[in-house]
Amino acid sequence: MTDKIIITFLGTGDSVPSRSRNHPAFLMTYKGENILVDCGEGTQRQFRKAGLNPCKITRILITHWHADHILGIPGMLKTLGLSGYNQILHIYCPKGTKILIEQLLNLFKIKTEYPLEIKEVKGKFFDTGDFYLEAESMTHGIPCNAYSFIKKERIRIDKKILEKLGIPEGPHLKELKERKNLTYNGKSYSFKKLTYQEKPLKVSFILDTSLNDRIIPFVMNSDILISESTFTSDLEKKAEEYKHLTVSQVAGIAKKAKVKRLFLVHISQRFSKDLKRVLEDSKRIFNSSYLPKDLEKIEL
Ligand SMILES: [Zn+2]
Ligand SMILES: [Zn+2]
Repeated sequence: MTDKIIITFLGTGDSVPSRSRNHPAFLMTYKGENILVDCGEGTQRQFRKAGLNPCKITRILITHWHADHILGIPGMLKTLGLSGYNQILHIYCPKGTKILIEQLLNLFKIKTEYPLEIKEVKGKFFDTGDFYLEAESMTHGIPCNAYSFIKKERIRIDKKILEKLGIPEGPHLKELKERKNLTYNGKSYSFKKLTYQEKPLKVSFILDTSLNDRIIPFVMNSDILISESTFTSDLEKKAEEYKHLTVSQVAGIAKKAKVKRLFLVHISQRFSKDLKRVLEDSKRIFNSSYLPKDLEKIEL
């Protein structure tokens, strides 16, 4: 098991899939967790194409109940059952929408043999001590959540220095993690010398929203921001009408929120022959902008 966070872009398209872009779905893998953000139609096949096993999914985060973000759920739940999935599947959704999952399961007569735990969430909703998940409500005409994954700052013991100083590992090192100095064999060592600080890491997802005041504080200091960018800036009126963001609005958010890297997704098929236009629109304001393809992976 690696300590790395891996994000797989399973679907980078919007409501209408194109030859190369499927409906929204993103998988975040970290330690034993496989967190799926949205599950558009065809997500199961995207898993297969990416060489990933859907049975490894531990949590599903639903941003909102527009068809392009959720139509893959019934099939996915059915497949998990047929594949012997035998752990609790945690599903998180915006406030007031738990009933929709129940209705969806009813509609397709899906009875899962594995337990489902469905929670409506806002604010911090899952914390392992090592990382936590957070939700904030967006503005998209229906209940809609943005999500962040935050790996906490950690004190790590520098094993190379320990070895140099001839200090063995063991429970006597515990206090170093609490920023206390170490006394070993009658000698005192400053914790600063023996430890280093591992920076926090933040990955944020904004899928479908109009511009609102909550976005910037929510995504502040994200290392990775994955955001919808349905319309280019010349289509601002349309973006307003359909309650979406324009590329330049997203780029402006990334800049103001001191984001490190911005990944533009929910790409409309109207730009499939002119992707440069989307990327340039973003780069003009925020240079670290990327347009990932389906099945592309990033590691951090
Ligand atoms: Zn959408
Ligand atoms: Zn939507």
